[in-house]
Amino acid sequence: MEIILAKTAGFCFGVKRALELVDQALADTGTPIYSLGPLIHNPAVVAELETRGLKPVETLRGIGAGRVVIRSHGVGPSVIAMAQAQHLTLIDATCPFVKNVQELALTLDREGYQVVIVGEREHAEVKGVLDAVKGAAIVIEDPDEVDRELVAPKVGIVSQTTQESAAFNRVVGAIVPYAKECRIFNTICLATARRQQEAAELSRQVERMIVVGGKNSANTRHLAQICRSGGTLTYQVEDAAELQTGWFAGVSRIGVTAGASTPDAQIFSVVEKINLLGGNDVVSENSAKPNEPVEIAAELTEESFNYDWPEDRFQELVPGQIIEAKVILVRDDAAFVDIGGKSDLTIPLAELAAEPGESAKQLVEVGDVIKVVVTKTGDEEKIRLSKRLYDLEKIWLDLAEVQKQGGVVEGTVTAMVKGGLSVMVKGVRAFMPASQSGLGQVNLKALVGSTFNVNVLELDQAKHRLLVTRRALLEAQRKQAEAEFFSRVTEGERQTGVVTRLTDFGAFIDLGGGVEGLLHVSEMSWRRVKSPRDLLKEGDTVEVLIIKADPETRRISLSLKQIQAHPWDEAAQKFAEGQVCPGTVVKLESFGAFVNLAPSLDGLVHISQIADKRIAKPDEVLKVDDQVTVKIIKIDTANRKISLSMKQVVQDQSEQQVTQFIEGQDAAPVSQSLGDLLKDEKELDEK
Ligand code: SF4
Repeated sequence: MEIILAKTAGFCFGVKRALELVDQALADTGTPIYSLGPLIHNPAVVAELETRGLKPVETLRGIGAGRVVIRSHGVGPSVIAMAQAQHLTLIDATCPFVKNVQELALTLDREGYQVVIVGEREHAEVKGVLDAVKGAAIVIEDPDEVDRELVAPKVGIVSQTTQESAAFNRVVGAIVPYAKECRIFNTICLATARRQQEAAELSRQVERMIVVGGKNSANTRHLAQICRSGGTLTYQVEDAAELQTGWFAGVSRIGVTAGASTPDAQIFSVVEKINLLGGNDVVSENSAKPNEPVEIAAELTEESFNYDWPEDRFQELVPGQIIEAKVILVRDDAAFVDIGGKSDLTIPLAELAAEPGESAKQLVEVGDVIKVVVTKTGDEEKIRLSKRLYDLEKIWLDLAEVQKQGGVVEGTVTAMVKGGLSVMVKGVRAFMPASQSGLGQVNLKALVGSTFNVNVLELDQAKHRLLVTRRALLEAQRKQAEAEFFSRVTEGERQTGVVTRLTDFGAFIDLGGGVEGLLHVSEMSWRRVKSPRDLLKEGDTVEVLIIKADPETRRISLSLKQIQAHPWDEAAQKFAEGQVCPGTVVKLESFGAFVNLAPSLDGLVHISQIADKRIAKPDEVLKVDDQVTVKIIKIDTANRKISLSMKQVVQDQSEQQVTQFIEGQDAAPVSQSLGDLLKDEKELDEK
C-alpha cells in the first residue's frame, strides 16, 4: 500500500506563531497564564500545554491577576475592553489574516454595507468579527439561508478564514442576484486555500483519505468534506489509535493530510500506524506540478481554487536573487507575501520601498505581484526579502538613463551640507554642489525643504555616488523667461519682484523666472540712501517701475522712488505765494542763495532779491546757516521750484511803516511838525 502525505499537512503560519508566543510566555512563570478557549483546536496539544501552565478558560469572569492569551481566532473589542478593565495582561496571538477580516468588516460597516460573514455562527473567529462590527453583521453558512428579503441594497461579504472555498462561492452566488451593489472579499487564508486545493488533488488519486486533526477544528472538518465530495472514502482521526485495520483492506494507495492545528508528531504517528497495517514507505511528493505560477483565487467560481502549487522554493533561494512575490496581506508595519513556498513570508515596512512610508498599506496592496531581492537564506524563519533593494536597483538604472538622455528627475533638498546641499532623489541620497544649486549667489539655507527638477551630473552606483545640478535648467528657464519678458514689457510699467542680491551700488530684483533688473541706489528713494541694505533685504518683495528695458544688452533698470510721492510735493502743499516765513541759508551761488524752508524743500533768493541795494555777490550780505526771513514770490509746482525774496520783506515793512505814519498823522496834534515826527521815528529805531 502506497501512502502519499500531503505536502502542506500540519501547522499553519498562524498556529505556529500562537504556539511560539505561548512558549515565550510560559518561560516566565511570574503570573498565571490563561487562554480564552483552547489555544488551538487540537485536544492533545491543549492538554500538553495545560501541564506546562497554560490554563484554558471559557470566560474572563472570575479571573484575578494574570496574563491572557488571545488565540489565533481573535476576539472582538468588547473582550479586549473587559480584559483591560480587569487589569489582565494580553498576549495577542490573533492571526494577521483574522485581523484583516475584522478590519475589512469594520470598513464595510462604516461605509454603509450590510456585512455578511460566510462562516460558522458558533466559531470563535466569526464571533470576534461580529463583535468588531458591534453585532451588525449577518452570518450565513449555507446558500439556503440566504433570504432575498434580508439582502440589503449594499452588501459587503467576508469569509471565515478557514471556510471551505466551494461553500463560500455558493453563498456568494446566492447573494449576488439580489444585491444592487456587492463587495466581496475572499478572506479564506492562503494556508487554508492551499490545504484544500492539495486535499482535493490528492483525494482524486487515492482510494482512501485519512485526515488528521481535532474534531473541533473547522479547517480539518472542511478538508475531510472536500475529500469526500470528490467521492473518496475519507476518515477523520485525532490520533493513530482511531485507525482501524478494515479501512485499508484491498487498498493500494492511501492519502494522508492534516488540519492547520495538527502537530507533525501526530501526523507521523498516524503514518507509522498505517505502515504497520500494511503500507509502504511514505511518498512525500504529491500531485503538485513544479514551477507553476502561484495564483491566489480571485474569482468566485468553483474553478478558482483549481490551481497547482509549485514545489517548495525556500531551499532553492540564493542571496541576491530577484524573485516575484504575491502580496496576500498588508498591515501597517509589514506585508505578508507568498513566493510559492510552504509558508508565507514577511517583509517589514522599512524593506518595502526605497523612500520611507508611514504604513505598508500606502506602498503595496493585496494581490500586487512585486519583485524582491533575497537578502538572507536558510530555514523558513531566516529568509529575508527586500523590495527596497530591488526598487533601488531599478532607480539607479533609471537615473543612469536620465543622465544618458540629459533628462530631469525630481529631488527634494533635505539638508545643507559642507559645500552644497543633500538632495533626496527617488530614495537615493544625492549631493548638489553649491555652485550647481542656482544662478549667481544662492541662499542654500532657504532651499532646504524645496522640491525641484534636477539633472544628473555624475553617477557611480558602486560607490553610491550621485551628483545632481539645477543650474543648467535654471539657465534655460531664465533665457525663456527673458525672451517672454522683453517681448511684452513696456518702459514705465510697474512690476513686482523679489530682492535676490544686495551690493553697494544697488539691489538685483528677480522679476520672475530668473529675469533680473537692477535697482540702483540712486533710484531707491527721494532721500539720500547711504547703503541699499538700510532699505532692503534679500527675499523682500517690492513693487518697482521699469525705467529702462534694453533687449539688446538685456539690461533692465528699475526705480523704487519714482512710484513714491515726492517729498517736495508734500512739503510744498504747506506753503502759499505771498507767505512770509523763516528759513536757513543752505547754499550760496553767484546768482543767489538757496534757503531751506522745510525738509526737502529749498527755495532760491535771486541775487536781485537779496537786498534793497545793489550787491555783486550774495556772500557780501549772507553766509551759510544764516537765519533769514523770506517772502514766497512764486511756487512752480511743475518744475518743483520756489522763488523767494528778502528784499520784498524789507520793502513790505517800510510800506507798512509809512502806512502807519499816515494813519498816525491823522490822529496827531496840529502843532507837531514833520521834523518832530521824523525825530521821534529815529529815536524809536535806535531803541
Ligand atoms: S488557518 Fe489561516 S487564518 Fe487560521 S491561524 Fe492558520 S494561517 Fe491564520
